[in-house]
Amino acid sequence: MALVVQKYGGTSMGSIERIRNVAKRVAKTYDAGNDMVVVVSAMSGETNKLVALANELSEFPDAREYDVLVAAGEQVSIALLAMCLKSMGYKAKSYLGFQIPIMTDSSYSKARIEEIPDNKVRADIKEGTIIIVAGFQGVDASGSITTLGRGGSDTSAVAMAAALKADVCEIFTDVDGVYTTDPNICKDAKKIERISYEEMLELASLGAKVLQIRSVEFAMKYNVDVHVRSSFNENLGTMVTKEDKEMEAVLVSGIAYAKDEVKIAVMQVPDRPGIAAKILSPLSEANISVDMIVQNVSEDGLTDFTFTVPQADFKKALSITKETAEAVDAKEVLCDENVTKVSIVGLGMRSHAGVATKMFTALAAEGINIQMISTSEIKISVVVDAKYTELAVRVLHDAFGLSK
Ligand code: ASP
Ligand code: MG
Repeated sequence: MALVVQKYGGTSMGSIERIRNVAKRVAKTYDAGNDMVVVVSAMSGETNKLVALANELSEFPDAREYDVLVAAGEQVSIALLAMCLKSMGYKAKSYLGFQIPIMTDSSYSKARIEEIPDNKVRADIKEGTIIIVAGFQGVDASGSITTLGRGGSDTSAVAMAAALKADVCEIFTDVDGVYTTDPNICKDAKKIERISYEEMLELASLGAKVLQIRSVEFAMKYNVDVHVRSSFNENLGTMVTKEDKEMEAVLVSGIAYAKDEVKIAVMQVPDRPGIAAKILSPLSEANISVDMIVQNVSEDGLTDFTFTVPQADFKKALSITKETAEAVDAKEVLCDENVTKVSIVGLGMRSHAGVATKMFTALAAEGINIQMISTSEIKISVVVDAKYTELAVRVLHDAFGLSK
């Protein structure tokens, strides 16, 4: 007998018919002799509706009340699922975040889970009850409702699994698992059977949207095996787990792309110590995170300093940078919104030479110009003209043998 945590996302819970389908799947796993905790999201579209209401009311909705509002969708879905299971003759009980309680810090809309006491849930499980938990929400030390950020139910599920030392955490979603790249762009994309936490973290932060990034961090920290799979069929999905020898042998496991970054270049700044800090610190003070950074070799004591920021922060970043540029006597500030970051990710890169060369050669063969480059141990990212996004992804997918 195992303890299984299952999580069903908004699409899987999207209608009464689909909730019935979820209940059947839960019942089947329970009937096979497992203890069960089920974490669910709001029905698809519901959270967006609540967000829209808040935005209609105010440009800057109060942070505490905003979380009270957007957490509401999950209350509906836990009740419906528990009702459904009870009508099928099972013992089931719904829990809101604060009832467990899922304790978090007080950073509304991006709260971090700090602790989950397991006594209530364990007592119920002992009596054969199926536990249904509202994802996405928690409670802070003062008793206020908090939420974990969009897509946060993934993190709720992994955290429940960690707290209960569950045998597995199954994340049921509307895709079959994690793919080698976006199947909408590349028809040869393949489902990955097993992927390491580190690779999954990179892929998630580079734009693959299957799992919330924080859920992967949580899984890695507490060593929770996460099985991402479809709620619409019985196929095995992707196991996100500790790295092993086999994974290390794979040079590149996935290709990701992110269109939501923009490039800002400060042209002909005097090249002297402290310039990078001068340009970047006002941005970090404004809470804008800078991703890629390139500084050119200087000529006649002048250099160009280029970086990327999230699209959402573009306007603010540009006006801040223009001010700095003036203060440091730079010639001008240029920007380009039509760029995409394309990345290759794989554990095998750590021990193989020539991966970057292979990537750059493949892109060059298609006449794709690389504007910026950044690397980590298991990732190489390049910034290219946005019009080459699809082509770049496909070419790299082929070049690293992922299409076979
Ligand atoms: N319902 C929340 C959202 O739409 C949480 C989740 O689905 O994971 O972001
Ligand atoms: Mg999701």
